[in-house]
Amino acid sequence: MNNVYKLQAHLLKTGLHNDPSSIHRLLLLCVACAPHSLSYARSLFAHIPSPDTLAFNTIIRAHSHSSPLHAFSLFALMRRRFVPPDHYTFPLVLKAGSCLQVGFELHSLIMKLGFHSDIYVMNGLINFYGSLGYVEFARQIFDEMTVNDLVSWSSMISCLNNNGFCYEALGLFKQMQIAGNFKADEVTMVSVISAVSSLGALELGRWIESFVRRNGLKLTVQLGTALIDMYSRCGSVDDFIRVFEEMPDRNVLTWTALINGLAVHGRGREALRMFDEMKESGLQPDDIIIRAVLVACSHGGLVADGRQVFDSIKNEYNVEPTLEHYGCMVDLLGRSGLLNEAFEFVEKMPIRPNIVVWRTLLGASVNHKNVDLAEKVREKIYELDASHDGDYVLLSNAYGGVGKWVEKAEVRTSMREKRISKKPGCSFLNVDGVIHEFVSGDNSLPESDEIKDFLVSIIGSLRVEGYLPCTTSVLHDIEEEEKEHSLGYHSEKLAIAFALVNFKGRKTIRIMKNLRICHDCHCFMKHISRKFNREIIIRDRNRFHHFTNGSCSCQDFW
Ligand code: ZN
Ligand code: ZN
Repeated sequence: MNNVYKLQAHLLKTGLHNDPSSIHRLLLLCVACAPHSLSYARSLFAHIPSPDTLAFNTIIRAHSHSSPLHAFSLFALMRRRFVPPDHYTFPLVLKAGSCLQVGFELHSLIMKLGFHSDIYVMNGLINFYGSLGYVEFARQIFDEMTVNDLVSWSSMISCLNNNGFCYEALGLFKQMQIAGNFKADEVTMVSVISAVSSLGALELGRWIESFVRRNGLKLTVQLGTALIDMYSRCGSVDDFIRVFEEMPDRNVLTWTALINGLAVHGRGREALRMFDEMKESGLQPDDIIIRAVLVACSHGGLVADGRQVFDSIKNEYNVEPTLEHYGCMVDLLGRSGLLNEAFEFVEKMPIRPNIVVWRTLLGASVNHKNVDLAEKVREKIYELDASHDGDYVLLSNAYGGVGKWVEKAEVRTSMREKRISKKPGCSFLNVDGVIHEFVSGDNSLPESDEIKDFLVSIIGSLRVEGYLPCTTSVLHDIEEEEKEHSLGYHSEKLAIAFALVNFKGRKTIRIMKNLRICHDCHCFMKHISRKFNREIIIRDRNRFHHFTNGSCSCQDFW
């Protein structure tokens, strides 16, 4: 800001303080040096006798991110004074827009003033509609553009990816390669990598990495961090560690991606070691990486280490513990069976616990079959939100776990009365880029009978080897065999049977599941991994499970 004052003093001394171009220079300097001193920038702007398009663009740009309302009123002022907007003006105003109505008005003004063939303005519109989730409007603009540039493609790919259309984002990326006019840059590739992460498609991910390298793109902090996250979400620990080691520069986000990856893959000790290494490298931990470290402790059952990290949040790292940090501690204590301590911890929290914290404790009480605590916690949750289906399912499982079938039935009835339905479990099996989908209890696949026969026969032979179906995961009080039979249909079991029948030569089977894996399927997978000598990698809602030779990487903490 000192430079700004100096220039202003100089202008006053030399009598140039009323000269429009000098004031504009001062305004530019102010916006560049002190982007947060917006009121000062506005007062400078007010001193320009008749601001032109350039001056308006400068002041609108300064406001478009942090103060969108001001950006709009400045644009309105520009229109009232008949200052013509140019192709820089519209993307700036669009950036400030956050409702569809405003977008429509700007869109029609853009058409009226003849900017519809301006790539820069149209890209602004794609980004605008994309940021609000109106993918179809963005796509229409993209498709109708007679000429486009790399930014148009990147914006459209990012719009599709950010709105959950991962397949379509990758499809458009492919189309961009076929069109062959533009070479993808870092921005394009970050969106593409993110789309692959959401799909969890490892082979495709490896191809994308080789594409990045073939095209001579540098392994920047952003690109490398995106690749680490992608490999972690595709289930390949070796790959993300390799990318991390190859990166010439890293920031806290890079380390966070690495520690998150190690955490969800059950490598708690390594995560803690890497956290120490990061601190030694001179980087200051922020609240997000601390959360990742706590998750790593929780997934690895490292209670003492977790407590130590939690205690240092304020003392050592000068960070105020957030609700999420408290939630992680509840998870850590709860998973390890320290239920009473976890309950006391929640009651003594200086921040009001939210529903997520209580739900974490409910999950832990159910897992450790503590029905009394589960009921107590359920009451607390009910006060906050009466409609969440997960709590009903958990509570009914808790009753089932200790054989309280009447109570369990009551919970189920009240669920039905409130029309709360359980989300069906589904699993995705990815083989050679083709994704096969399985839904729990679904018999519609052409191979259904073959898969079921196969399941019956392997469950039979696994029983001989000591596998005992864990029936507490089933939802009704029915005969043991029937419970076991209906467990046989959980989507990950269907997926694994399908893989064993159809892909006999595969050493590794990768499955993605939308819900948390149940105790029985977890136990089943362990047996399968030993009997068939396969590595089974399952990504469930919370984390990864690597099953090899009869055990799982999560060491049964999940
Ligand atoms: Zn299951
Ligand atoms: Zn596991």
